[in-house]
Amino acid sequence: MRLTFDDSVERFRAEFVAWLADNRPSEEEIRADPALSSGHLPVWAKRWTRRMFDDGWLVPGWPPERGGRNASPTEQLVYLEEMERARVPRTTNPQGLGIVAPSLLDYGSQEQIENYALPILRGEKSACLGMSEPGAGSDLASLSTRAVLDGDRFVINGQKVWTSGARHSDFCFLFCRTDPEAPKHKGISVILVDMETPGMTVRPLPEIVAPEYPDLNEVFLTDVVVPKQNLVGTLNDGWAMANGSLAHERGMVWVSSSIVLDDDISRLVRDAPSWLGRVSEAERHALAERIADAYIDTAAARCMGYRGFGKLLRGGSAPEQALMKAFASEARRNLAMVAAEVQGPEVLEASPPAVHATTLVPDENTSWIEQYFRTFALTISAGASEIQRNIIAERVLGLPRS
Ligand SMILES: Cc1cc2nc3c(=O)[nH]c(=O)nc-3n(C[C@H](O)[C@H](O)[C@H](O)COP(=O)(O)OP(=O)(O)OC[C@H]3O[C@@H](n4cnc5c(N)ncnc54)[C@H](O)[C@@H]3O)c2cc1C
Repeated sequence: MRLTFDDSVERFRAEFVAWLADNRPSEEEIRADPALSSGHLPVWAKRWTRRMFDDGWLVPGWPPERGGRNASPTEQLVYLEEMERARVPRTTNPQGLGIVAPSLLDYGSQEQIENYALPILRGEKSACLGMSEPGAGSDLASLSTRAVLDGDRFVINGQKVWTSGARHSDFCFLFCRTDPEAPKHKGISVILVDMETPGMTVRPLPEIVAPEYPDLNEVFLTDVVVPKQNLVGTLNDGWAMANGSLAHERGMVWVSSSIVLDDDISRLVRDAPSWLGRVSEAERHALAERIADAYIDTAAARCMGYRGFGKLLRGGSAPEQALMKAFASEARRNLAMVAAEVQGPEVLEASPPAVHATTLVPDENTSWIEQYFRTFALTISAGASEIQRNIIAERVLGLPRS
């Protein structure tokens, strides 16, 4: 089966592809000045995000004054497909563009939109997302970082963890407990905290894939004083924003997963014959069967993504998003493992990554073993696989809560 789009959507795609060819930064330019973390904005990234904003290609579904062109949902879908194929990130601060800016546009004051959201969209500022804590990850509502309102200011104490890009970010979109007496979902607020504020300490957490470019951090807050006007939305109503923020993150994540799966399986099918020639016939059969399974998973992920998207277009809810998140991230991990096994021991000889993952999406030169390690993050961030399975059990299958 071959899915096609209307002519008008294909014209939109062609216009964007032509614009990309004329304007995108070159791979050499990106490699020469790599992003050091997902909070770092190298010169090329600032220029590139600004150009996308000015020309209405940053978030095409939004109006021009917010970096878009009022594109339809289907146009946004083909836009994301082409962005992923071009292998150039829209920004090196994905949590700023994908979660913080849209949340501020939804809930922030006019002043916060002017001073925080628009600068992210114009590539001038970067943001980190302070949600997780040592005792609050999947169960975010258990967070205990405390903000006490004292006249016209908040005094904040506590600790965040896994805060991507915090070391280089300009400010944090910080989830705090503002009413410890209220039920746990009801006493949470979001406060904007400039990272330079006295009392903020950031400690990087090196990762296995590229320890020299740590992206994750612990953030400690000791008597951090922030003006009251940095409260986003209504006091104690942060939980609505937590759900809104994550919805922004989960919305179309499947498009990128689906394109990466397509690229990965094509690369494996191309390279496998020469590697399979080196193993016994029995092993060859077993590995070929696993490659075929990975191929089927790729097609299934694509169909599932389109099915959920179709439902959203018709105005329904799409619990398939949870299915897609769990299935596609696990399919990527399986595929990388199969590829590493097919390649055999030489997979371990691959050179270490040259640049941070947020600068260049995995490509031809990314070894299968690096891909494999990186996929673990996919099955945890934006809602771990087990949590997606809970959602599927309750909202898709209608099973009782455990
Ligand atoms: C690459 C990456 C980037 C991240 N960036 C950020 C960031 O910028 N800001 C931020 O705030 N956080 C960030 N996180 C943190 C992420 O949101 C958390 O890791 C995630 O919410 C899981 O929380 P946890 O690590 O505390 O694990 P836990 O919640 O402690 O879970 C541990 C294990 O138990 C399982 N589990 C937990 N509860 C249940 C349940 N009810 N039913 C079944 N199984 C369950 C989980 O699935 C998991 O396997 C990032 C994580 C990663 C991997």
